[in-house]
Amino acid sequence: MFPLAAWVFLSARCAAMHPPTFDAPLPPSPGAKPIYLKDLDFGILAQCIHCGLCLPTCPTYDATKLERHSPRGRIQLMKNVAEGRLDVTEVFGNEMYFCLGCLACETACPAGVDYTRMFEEARADIERAGVLNTEKRNWIRSLTLRGIFTRPWLLRAIGRALRIYQASGMEALVRKLGLTRLLPKNLRELEPLTPRIQQDFSDALIGEIETPPEGATRRVGMLTGCVQDLTYSHVNRDTVDVLLANHCEVITPRMQHCCGSLHGHNGEVDTARDMARRNIDDMERSAGPLAELDAIITNAGGCGTHLKHYDHLLHNDPRYAERARIWTTKVKDIHEFLSAIGPVKPAGAGAEQTVTYHESCHLCHGQKITKQPRELLKLIPGLKLVELPESSWCCGSAGVYNITQPEMSAKLLDRKMANIAKTGAKCVANGNPGCSVQLEAGVRARGDDTEIVHPITLLARAYRAGKS
Ligand code: SF4
Ligand code: SF4
Repeated sequence: MFPLAAWVFLSARCAAMHPPTFDAPLPPSPGAKPIYLKDLDFGILAQCIHCGLCLPTCPTYDATKLERHSPRGRIQLMKNVAEGRLDVTEVFGNEMYFCLGCLACETACPAGVDYTRMFEEARADIERAGVLNTEKRNWIRSLTLRGIFTRPWLLRAIGRALRIYQASGMEALVRKLGLTRLLPKNLRELEPLTPRIQQDFSDALIGEIETPPEGATRRVGMLTGCVQDLTYSHVNRDTVDVLLANHCEVITPRMQHCCGSLHGHNGEVDTARDMARRNIDDMERSAGPLAELDAIITNAGGCGTHLKHYDHLLHNDPRYAERARIWTTKVKDIHEFLSAIGPVKPAGAGAEQTVTYHESCHLCHGQKITKQPRELLKLIPGLKLVELPESSWCCGSAGVYNITQPEMSAKLLDRKMANIAKTGAKCVANGNPGCSVQLEAGVRARGDDTEIVHPITLLARAYRAGKS
């Protein structure tokens, strides 16, 4: 009862502080058109040459050895749907939701298959056809994707209630007394995945405009994310500190919206477009014309891939197409940005520390950012980087995959934790909040003391240590 009462109270308080700015989607721009599998360019659908080189890199094929669970099999299914030779059925829907969307197949593919485009349109087709609809599924999707994740004030209100539940000791008591056994089976299995909520969110930790004392040579916008804002707001603070140390003025809009990747990957393309428009508006309100920014920074690998596709998402929208095109040219992952400008090396000797690096799928496969995080880690005095076996193999987080496909997700997490143990490192760096939540759950389940940390947090600590 206590978390519920706290949630009601804080929801009301937060709603008063940050009144909901919208409850209905933005009206579509005149001329904006949806795109689905059948409308995809034939060139995209025909890219696959059936060579099979992607098969060994696909976690679902590796687990089942079934062609239909492989990238090649799924592409053939999507092509058949696009060409009208196959209907969008429940079997097709389940197949496309068994895919992690990890994009390892894109990295492996010599033909340059654009799996992301096909996969997102396929899931949109599945939702439009309603072949997986059940009352429970519709209710959960409506509550989360359209209700909570479109309203940052509501997400924060829920976060604050959860924070009280965790920080008051109630969560520990509930676990100690075994009360989680009273939850329905699926909620009981999800409970250990509950992320730790921070005391302060990004707008309390970061000023709207922060300028380095010695003056700035660059001006950047900062994206604080939605899950990242609740669970890793300190990583956002660290990111701003690292940008300041690298002579950047940082503009951070106060109330930001979810980037829309959750919606885009789960067939809610119209909502994803709505989120993209709102984020463009949010950034312009704080920073002015996007063209005048040197970069728009994200520190969440999963969000970054989607944020870089706003141009495609809004290319049919006359009011936003040009702004989305500029947005896409400006969005940079923090590791990518720092490596491009030449990062300031932290001064002084740091404490000896052995660190391994787990690659977020959407950072390495989606954005092809692999060497930059390693280079930044190697800049840190005293830090020894040991390679993680299968570092780019999915950890099973994959957006909401750990919720929708818990068995497959748990197998992937076990494999990842076993590989981490082989390195002997007690610190795992990774650049995506979804992976961090998953890996932290893995560490907790094993009663381990391994630290899961963002590479930029390690860099920020090194800059601070160099000053003291
Ligand atoms: S996205 Fe990942 S799980 Fe899906 S087909 Fe490609 S490699 Fe396999
Ligand atoms: S590697 Fe590329 S071209 Fe070859 S089967 Fe896989 S998706 Fe098709």
